[in-house]
Amino acid sequence: MKTKAAVLWGVDEPLDVAEVELAAPGAGEVRVRIEASGVCHSDWNAISGTWATPLPAVLGHEGSGVVEAVGAAVTSVSPGDTVVLSWLPACGTCRACQQGRLSLCEFVTRQMAAGSLPGGGFRLSHNGTRLHHYSFLSTFARHAIVDERSCIRLPAGTDTDVAALVGCAVTTGIGAVINRAKVNPGSSVAVFGAGGVGLSAIMGAGLAGAETIAAVEPIGSRRALALELGATLALDGRDPAAVQALLDYSHGGVDYAFVAAGLTSLLGLAFSVTRPGGMIVAIGVPPDGSVVSLPGPELVRSEKIITGTFYGSARPAIDMPMILRLHAQGRLPLEKLVGRRYRLAEVNEAFADMRSGISARAVLRPWEEGNGTRG
Ligand SMILES: [Zn+2]
Ligand SMILES: [Zn+2]
Repeated sequence: MKTKAAVLWGVDEPLDVAEVELAAPGAGEVRVRIEASGVCHSDWNAISGTWATPLPAVLGHEGSGVVEAVGAAVTSVSPGDTVVLSWLPACGTCRACQQGRLSLCEFVTRQMAAGSLPGGGFRLSHNGTRLHHYSFLSTFARHAIVDERSCIRLPAGTDTDVAALVGCAVTTGIGAVINRAKVNPGSSVAVFGAGGVGLSAIMGAGLAGAETIAAVEPIGSRRALALELGATLALDGRDPAAVQALLDYSHGGVDYAFVAAGLTSLLGLAFSVTRPGGMIVAIGVPPDGSVVSLPGPELVRSEKIITGTFYGSARPAIDMPMILRLHAQGRLPLEKLVGRRYRLAEVNEAFADMRSGISARAVLRPWEEGNGTRG
C-alpha cells in the first residue's frame, strides 16, 4: 500500500514528506495507523549526523496509534486496538532480558544499528529504493509496520497525544528516577535540561516524594513549566551564580542529579553539585565519540555513583500502562507536555520549534490536514 512519510535522504537535509510504499506486515508484525508522534531530540541527532544512522530512513520513534492489520502468528494485539509504540522490542531470552534489564537487550542493541525491523526485514520503499526503519518504528508517517513486541495495548479512549510522548520522553524521564535511581522520599534532586525528558524526570521525582527538585535550564518558558510540574527551584545554568545557588539550596549538594541533555560538559557540572555518596544519572546520549572527564581523586573519595539509563531502564509493557494510569488518576499532568501540534507537511517547522525551545513537546498529527495548532 501507499502512505505518506517524512524521509531523511541525507545528513543535514530537510525531511522530505513523500508518498512511500509500505509492504504488508510479515509474521509477528503489525500495521499501525499513526495517530500522534512526538518530535524527539534523538531524531534531530539522526538529521544532524551527531549519531550515525543508516539512510535513507523514515524517522520518528515516539508514537501512538491504532492497529489496522496483523501478520501471521500475531497474538497480543488485534485490529482496532489503541497502542503506544515501544522502540525497545526486547527479545526476552538473552542474558540481559532474563535478568529483567530489557533496556540492555543484546539482540535489540545489535539489530537497531542495521535500520531494519527486529526480524531483519525492511517494509518501506520509495520508487524501488529501500528506506530504513528508524528505531524499529518510523512514526513520522501515516502508517508504520512494527514488530508485535513494540505494540503495547492501551484502554480505548486514551489520549493519543499523551500516549505518544509516553512512548519515549515520558518513560525515559520518569524511568530514570523510579527504575534506575530509585529516588527515596525526602531526597534532593537536580535535573539538567527541562525539555520533554527533563520535565518528565521532574514529575517522576515528585511522584517518588523528593523534597526538593531543582531544574537547571537556559530557556525561561521551560523553567516556568518546570516549576508548574513540580520543580521547587529553577535556575539558568549560564548564570555564574547558579552552581553556588544550587549548593546552598541543597545544603552542600543534591542526592541525585539527572542529566537530560546529551552534553558531556553537564555531566561534570552534575558531578560537582552532587553530595558525597550521591548519584549522577546520564539520560541524554552525548554525541558519538565524546568522552566525559571527571576529577579523579574526588571520584574515589566521594563515593559518588555515576550511571546511565537507556529508555529509563524501562520494562515498557509494565511501565507505560502504569504511567498512563497514574496520568488518568490526575497524579502526572502529562498533558502539559503536549505543545503545538503539527501536520506531517510541517515536520521541518516542528524541528525548528523544538530546537528553539518554543514548544514543550512538538507533536505531529499525520492525519490532520488543516492547521493542527492546539494552543
Ligand atoms: Zn526519543
Ligand atoms: Zn534480550
